[in-house]
Amino acid sequence: MTVKSDTFFTDVTRNFENAGKYLKLPDGLLEQIRVCNSVYRFKFPVKTENGYEVVSAWRVEHSQHKLPTKGGIRFSEHVDEDEVMALAALMTYKCALVDVPFGGAKGGVKIDPRKYDEEQLQRITRRYAAELIKKGFIGPGIDVPAPDYGTGEREMAWIADTYSAFNPGQIDASGCVTGKPLSQGGIRGRREATGRGVFFGLREACDQAEDMKALGLSKGLAGKRVVVQGLGNVGYHAAKFLREAGAVLVGLAEYEGAIADPRGLDLEKVMTHRRDTKSILKFPGATDLKTAEALTLDCDILVPAALENQITIENAADVKAKIIGEAANGPVRSDADQVLRGRGVLIVPDVYLNAGGVTVSYFEWLKNLQHVRMGRLGKRFTETATNQLILTIEKSTGKTLSESEKLKLMAGPDEEALVNSGLEDTMIEAYHEIREVWKRHKGVDMRTAAFITAIDKVAQSYIELGVFP
Ligand code: NAD
Repeated sequence: MTVKSDTFFTDVTRNFENAGKYLKLPDGLLEQIRVCNSVYRFKFPVKTENGYEVVSAWRVEHSQHKLPTKGGIRFSEHVDEDEVMALAALMTYKCALVDVPFGGAKGGVKIDPRKYDEEQLQRITRRYAAELIKKGFIGPGIDVPAPDYGTGEREMAWIADTYSAFNPGQIDASGCVTGKPLSQGGIRGRREATGRGVFFGLREACDQAEDMKALGLSKGLAGKRVVVQGLGNVGYHAAKFLREAGAVLVGLAEYEGAIADPRGLDLEKVMTHRRDTKSILKFPGATDLKTAEALTLDCDILVPAALENQITIENAADVKAKIIGEAANGPVRSDADQVLRGRGVLIVPDVYLNAGGVTVSYFEWLKNLQHVRMGRLGKRFTETATNQLILTIEKSTGKTLSESEKLKLMAGPDEEALVNSGLEDTMIEAYHEIREVWKRHKGVDMRTAAFITAIDKVAQSYIELGVFP
């Protein structure tokens, strides 16, 4: 199949095909993995003060090689079928990379959520969920949505409630959607998970001395100058964890504009300023810029965390960052990717870097099916056993630990600690798996290496199922 047109899905297909060349797979298997298995396109009416509006919506299940399928729901006036297909395909590869046993899916509702009040948004979300229920496109063992651009915990709670109302008595109903509020079966750490995963991935990249040397950078995240575009769920948390690890935020961008300060921006103060003034602009001590100018600021790491198609052939040559951490999905167009690679820029690809969200969504789904909070059974047991051990050691050595040392050693694992350590381990493991493929195939970039790794895993699944010889 030759890719001709210029869309997000064809960009994903191009990346897929570049990687497919490195794999020897049975005839037809690559095509089976590439295509979207089910595309559900629908419309429904919504009552607003201006009368009835007809809303377009989609749910795409890209690959059902593992069930349930999984992927976020996007509320955006720009969303279209191609975009949802592309995002669903990325989800398949993402899940494979981080060993989350799901196929990929994605949903989209073509609205600008800022134009609706809460009651209208609730009606739209519940109606969208009802349409998915009617057609069998949602369920804990079928297809499990999550938040994405324009949606969050609130929308996920509405979806879970709608699903439960249609499926009374279904004991696993809360596993029909992830990213829910804690009180509705959510899990600690999910809100921050994607941004935290972005941080773990970039930290791992910066810790490879050999790779940093090739970029003319020193090892480690501390002191690296970072620009973040988009201060929503992913961008805000990525910026927060990067800053806490010693990176310097020299630029921040939102849709209303961008601000820069080479001395470093205080993220929390910027967020407070934005809440107070409804804009990040005019932040004391910083220079105001146009949104797009942030992408070409002088920095070491650029983190696009808003939407796709931000770095294009038009601005790629002006990007000064040596590392691009794709926190958003598809922020770098494939022609821009070539320009950047030609200049030796390291792109840590979306398909890996923002997989923290689905990783912790998987933990939430497990929690929902188990009907018990992680750590609940073992926390006190571990604390008591460790306390006994400390007492025995103190008795036999005659030495006594301080209270704070004891408390540190004794702390049994609670849900948040387990989730964060599971996420950290997953992101580190996946990074090295991809890096090994990247180093083994001379001349490939990290994105291609990630696709090779992911496609190979999906292919093995199909082969083991006996679907392909
Ligand atoms: P969000 O809606 O919480 O935040 C997006 C932010 O980007 C908003 O604050 C918005 O105002 C801002 N923005 C929009 N256009 C912009 C522009 N041109 N310049 C600067 N800022 C702009 O969405 P999110 O959940 O943070 O998702 C962001 C990206 O991360 C999307 O590509 C999404 O697919 C991807 N992603 C999200 C998750 C998740 O768990 N939420 C998981 C994986 C990937």
